[in-house]
Amino acid sequence: MLKQLYIDGQWVTPAQGGQFSCIDPATEETLQHVAAATAQDVDLAVQAARKAFNQGWSQTRGAERADWLEALADKLASKQDALAILEVCDNGKPLPEAQWDISDAIDCFRYYAGLARELDQRQDQPLELPDPRFSCRIRHEPVGVAGQIIPWNYPLLMAAWKVAPALAAGATCVLKPSELTSLTALELAVAASDVGLPAGVLNIVTGLGNEAGAALGAHPDVDKMAFTGSVPTGAKIMSAAAAEIKNISLELGGKSAFIVFDDADVEAAVEWIMFGIFWNQGQVCSATSRLLVQEGIAPRLTERLLDAARRIRIGPGLEPGVQLGPLVSAGQHRKVLSMIEQGKQQATLLTGGKRPGHLPEGYFLEPTIFAEPATDSRLWREEIFGPVLCIRRFKTEAEALQQANDSRFGLAAAVMSADLERSARVANGLRAGIVWVNCSQPTFTQAPWGGMKQSGIGRELGRWGLENYLEVKQVTEYRSQDAWGWYLKQE
Ligand code: NAD
Repeated sequence: MLKQLYIDGQWVTPAQGGQFSCIDPATEETLQHVAAATAQDVDLAVQAARKAFNQGWSQTRGAERADWLEALADKLASKQDALAILEVCDNGKPLPEAQWDISDAIDCFRYYAGLARELDQRQDQPLELPDPRFSCRIRHEPVGVAGQIIPWNYPLLMAAWKVAPALAAGATCVLKPSELTSLTALELAVAASDVGLPAGVLNIVTGLGNEAGAALGAHPDVDKMAFTGSVPTGAKIMSAAAAEIKNISLELGGKSAFIVFDDADVEAAVEWIMFGIFWNQGQVCSATSRLLVQEGIAPRLTERLLDAARRIRIGPGLEPGVQLGPLVSAGQHRKVLSMIEQGKQQATLLTGGKRPGHLPEGYFLEPTIFAEPATDSRLWREEIFGPVLCIRRFKTEAEALQQANDSRFGLAAAVMSADLERSARVANGLRAGIVWVNCSQPTFTQAPWGGMKQSGIGRELGRWGLENYLEVKQVTEYRSQDAWGWYLKQE
């Protein structure tokens, strides 16, 4: 059965009747046919969101919105296991990782319920001014209709990162999931419908990027565009927003460095390096895909890493014990394999680089490690978005920092050393929005997420995520009975 669009609280067929298939990347079989929205459907969704915003949602108290967010969290929690399985089938990731994602998505709704309640306390707080005849109060008002576009690597979690803070702020949403993984976002729409969220507050339009995504990005009645995805698409969102001077936030790609000093614990380093690049098949914006290892520890660390990488269990995400599932799609598999082929001319391939022999179907790829790519090679500079690690050796702290920062990206970085003073110094010198010390990738809903340079604009998560959907307003009042007297006095 065709999965329909969710607009104005109704399940609707797209105006032009288009559809696309969601494929299980482990079997290459079609899981589901999904409605492909066009500009006409996107327009209806934006109109519904505008009506819901104007007709009440923007006026609700934070506490009321918090109740809705908690109801959504409870509804998702009641189907947690089924959602995790659906995520595996749609995206390919191993089941324990999908379970983790779903649980984080639910927590995200609960967290922003808390911030929505706090917003009531923050509303209309006085601001002290230097002239006692004036009083000022500060309001935090919802930004309006939010257009939200997300990628495929954490389908429900990315939807939660967008929808939860927007609803908490009192904005209304039109969310477009990736055409590669639309199914759990549609389950969020089912949850919204089940709990009776007012019509139009959350609209979900599935569809292709250059059709539905482009229409949402360019829609003149969208007040704010929140986008997560690649740099080239982010640039398109930014230029479409420029025409309307639209408020935007962008969460884009990365090529994050992991610096390991000689005094680091080898076993701990191997653990975090593996997690940092092979988690979610390396399809992680913050993946620490550039490993910088100090000379003294490099031989032992590389040997342990290769041994561990060769022992990773690859297979369908639902199979118990699997650590590496398939890549998300045939296109992604082709792209990563082609970068690996090209990479063989730019560096030494130490392990992997091909489809595992025992898995002839599905978009599987062996964990791949290259040594010593040139610093100007594609392998070292471009986001691969697959299980591909590049290692370079360094001598000094200054050299490590220079190489880590020599990137157009600035999303994340990691540093590992027994010397805490040194790690703090290096952490402070890294040009990245997220720095991990003695670990890689742990992500907390409370902490700001986002990048410098071409990795994006703005921050999600934490209170910063809420601010994305708020406008700050000052209301200043003249309280004196006396005439102000400036102009009249001048005469
Ligand atoms: P993508 O840019 O191809 O697609 C992202 C979304 O944009 C999809 O929903 C797609 O349909 C839509 N889209 C495509 N063309 C569009 C257009 N012309 N106008 C409007 N929307 C359009 O990226 P992807 O392949 O889905 O995701 C991978 C990228 O996302 C990687 O670069 C990764 O680093 C990045 N990412 C970043 C973060 C972060 O927090 N910084 C998180 C996850 C993923």
